[in-house]
Amino acid sequence: MNRDYLTCREMVELVTEYLEGVMPPRERVIFEAHLAVCPGCTAYFEQMKQTIRLLGKLPEDSIEPEARDTLLHAFRNWKRTTTGEELV
Ligand SMILES: [Zn+2]
Repeated sequence: MNRDYLTCREMVELVTEYLEGVMPPRERVIFEAHLAVCPGCTAYFEQMKQTIRLLGKLPEDSIEPEARDTLLHAFRNWKRTTTGEELV
């Protein structure tokens, strides 16, 4: 990764990697920086942690594609209404 930011879509894709502890330190910093400024991803992240705590492990297939789309759509709307920015 040559960028110093992550999009919300990438956050959703990388959350399991982060929670598994297999993410490189540099990326973890970027991941945490995004969490600090993005309520949508923070909510998703907390939900994933909760799920893992309940299951005692990472779910095999954590999100259905449809659920993921819904989530990303919600993020997009949130971004638009609060910052006027479009998701990348
Ligand atoms: Zn985000």
